[in-house]
Amino acid sequence: MRKNIVAGNWKMNNDLSQTESLIDDLKNKTKTSNAEVMVAPTFTNLYHAYEALKSTSIEVVAQNMHFAENGAYTGEVNANMLKSVGVETVILGHSERRAYFNETDEMLAKKVDAALANGLRVIFCFGEELADRKSGNHEAVVESQIKNALFHLGVSAFKNIVLAYEPVWAIGTGETASPEQAQDMHAFIRKTLADTYGNDVANGISILYGGSVKPGNAQEIFSKPDVDGGLIGGAALNADDFFAIVNAF
Ligand code: PEP
Repeated sequence: MRKNIVAGNWKMNNDLSQTESLIDDLKNKTKTSNAEVMVAPTFTNLYHAYEALKSTSIEVVAQNMHFAENGAYTGEVNANMLKSVGVETVILGHSERRAYFNETDEMLAKKVDAALANGLRVIFCFGEELADRKSGNHEAVVESQIKNALFHLGVSAFKNIVLAYEPVWAIGTGETASPEQAQDMHAFIRKTLADTYGNDVANGISILYGGSVKPGNAQEIFSKPDVDGGLIGGAALNADDFFAIVNAF
């Protein structure tokens, strides 16, 4: 049985006191679903969030990392640094990293390797832009993003990978992929994995949907057979909304 997961990506929001207050709100919520819950604060708040949430079932994860082991990479953070503050999972390949920080498939392959080599679990994000969807190229784009960054890996690596399909046109726009569009793409992703790695890998991996998931649409999206949860941006900044989504399974 693959896991249901709801992960909140706080992006570049919340200073320390705002982080504390959101964490307090989250601690007052009750989880009624079987979903694994994760939140991704900024680097500066990771350790504090880890300490504050370690006695709960909410996992603190990182939004990004560099692939190098150490060295002259001003402003960057490596896998070992994340592990040293309690982090066990890192989000890689978010469309904002690709668009604003020029992260390429090649760079992401190196980040995935470094994360896995250091024992981190990876939430690997990918998704097409609006022009790709309009031209009917969305499956080809997604297939190449996945293949370029992940298909050098051996079968066993996929135990530590979660996929997050996030159509760029649906992120932070209020525009959501319809549940059918999400289901179709998730089924396509699973087939792509099955063709190369077999059914055990394809059926065992959790595939999250991301893009304007809200309390009002989460249940319908999560009801689709190949959707195993969500990566949540805006709605993760409010504990009521976030837990309404967590409990939408
Ligand atoms: C995201 O950034 O991963 C995301 C899905 O954002 P939002 O929920 O705000 O669309």
